[in-house]
Amino acid sequence: MLKIYNTLTKTKEEFQPIHPGKVGMYVCGPTVYDHCHLGHARGYVNMDTIRRHLEYSGLEVRYIMNYTDVGHLVHDAEVGEDKIEQIAKAEKINPLDVADRYIQSCEEDFTSLNIKKASFNPRPTQYIAQIIKFVADLIEKDIAYEANGSVYFSVEKFPQYGKLSGRKTDELLEGARVEKNPEKKNPLDFALWIKANSEHILKWPSPWSEGYPGWHIECSVMSSDIFAGETFDIHGGGNENIFPHNENEIAQSEAHLGEKMANFWVLWSMVNIEEAKMSKSLKNQTTIKAVLEKYDPMVVRLWILSSHYHSPISYSENSLAQAESNLKRITDFIINLRLRRWTSKSESGENIIDLEKYKKDFEKAMNDDFNTPVALSVVYDLITETNKLLQNNKLGTAEAKNILVFWEKINKVLGLAIAETTIEIPENITKIAEARKSARQTKDFQKSDDLRKEIEKLGYTIEDLKDNEYQIKKL
Ligand SMILES: [Zn+2]
Repeated sequence: MLKIYNTLTKTKEEFQPIHPGKVGMYVCGPTVYDHCHLGHARGYVNMDTIRRHLEYSGLEVRYIMNYTDVGHLVHDAEVGEDKIEQIAKAEKINPLDVADRYIQSCEEDFTSLNIKKASFNPRPTQYIAQIIKFVADLIEKDIAYEANGSVYFSVEKFPQYGKLSGRKTDELLEGARVEKNPEKKNPLDFALWIKANSEHILKWPSPWSEGYPGWHIECSVMSSDIFAGETFDIHGGGNENIFPHNENEIAQSEAHLGEKMANFWVLWSMVNIEEAKMSKSLKNQTTIKAVLEKYDPMVVRLWILSSHYHSPISYSENSLAQAESNLKRITDFIINLRLRRWTSKSESGENIIDLEKYKKDFEKAMNDDFNTPVALSVVYDLITETNKLLQNNKLGTAEAKNILVFWEKINKVLGLAIAETTIEIPENITKIAEARKSARQTKDFQKSDDLRKEIEKLGYTIEDLKDNEYQIKKL
């Protein structure tokens, strides 16, 4: 039974999909005005692992992550410059080219980190008609109002406002009074549609003004469009956006649908950077691309999975070095098993390891709110037990194969892409292979067979090709 911590109810709840066998998951995506950074790596690796575990559990997951390409203003404000337009103006190019460039960059990073492609990546510039319709509906329902060409959501009309972040409207009001906007009836009201000033590049005609959507409305409109206006199972995102972004999404969607937006709110925590060790250009040093210049992408993925998604993690040389050594342990384990799988044909000692128990423990950890650090400790225990058997030469071929099959299965959840190691063929192996070739030429098949076994004992395999040629591979 899968239990997930639901930020909406602040409790761990049993997960039951709305439609049996299927899961609808919407994750707030990045605003594409810059390269993705470590915080994104963390969040989207976590969400990818959650998705993978749901799939491992036999569920079909519709995984949606948007790319915000309009409406996210500098300082997350409601007036001022759009983050993407700011870059476009500086570079004298079209804002959508800026968005395209960083979407491509982000996808490269995701591929490196072995994050599975989303079922769909909607972008608000492709949903303007739906956004206008949604906003018009909210005005029609008397939940939103127009003022001077902009449209605002009336927070008073949604009494549950604050239910996700736990913020109380009277406390919020204290803070909101400082920044006065005469168009708003209540300082807490937020923009759904913003009238564009003359410098604004991305703008569209609407019943209210030539303008552009507010930042929060896109997620409500796109998720509602994709999930056919129904409640969906899981809404993911970073907990730094719980207020106002996620809170406003709930208000917009639930006022519009008349029902719950999403059953579960699953929010990841932040990455703490050990600033002391970094120089001035901290931002540039913590893009995924910069980090991947220093570390293997799978080291980064393993480092992320070594903490629970709900807890903050620290980016430091020590924590990455730890992940590096753990990844090496896993890689060695796989290489050793591959070797054993092909070399030891007659040994006894089959099924000494209780794989069923490891499977149960792994699943129990993942079913407990996707507890990846505990799931990884199960893997490390398996490695320790396997290594002992290997050292004592007690692991048979069949069992080695079973362990490998088991690893491959649970690694569908962890998503660690561990490549086949390509290595140079050592000279002594080539010498034996040459001797074997001569034996074959003289039709001394007994000797040829013995030499093959010798090569295999040393961890290599030999494949005969045409014209007495051969190919050596590492096992
Ligand atoms: Zn969002």
